[in-house]
Amino acid sequence: MSDGRPTGRDGGAISPPARLDLFGFHPTPACVVLIPRSGAWRSGHAFGLLLLCWAAIGVVMWVPPHIPWVLGAFFLGIFFFVKYIRERNTLVELDGTCPRCGAAQTLRKPTRLGNPHRVHCMKCGQMLLLRTAEPHSAP
Ligand SMILES: [Zn+2]
Repeated sequence: MSDGRPTGRDGGAISPPARLDLFGFHPTPACVVLIPRSGAWRSGHAFGLLLLCWAAIGVVMWVPPHIPWVLGAFFLGIFFFVKYIRERNTLVELDGTCPRCGAAQTLRKPTRLGNPHRVHCMKCGQMLLLRTAEPHSAP
């Protein structure tokens, strides 16, 4: 699962080599599953949700107390736009151990992959860095 080739699952999911780092401890290997996101996917989701939220302003502006709903829909649209336009890879699976305490590290829900990606160890409370050989996103 760590040879970097597409696995054919989840629309082109891949499993690049990865490790969990913590300063002062030896890195531990980790198994990850990523979905590289194309520019079309990112901009489609970003602009789609931006337009949906801003279109909702036309409805929520009639609900008292008016201004909070309008501002909420406006900034929620911007939040989704930034969230999806930055999501070059989605991390869908994580299986590793903490370099300090050896506790199993898993993922609760799919999320945007940062590089390095921060993982909070629930047992020892340390902030681990998940480093992957980030694949180039599709055009
Ligand atoms: Zn730990």
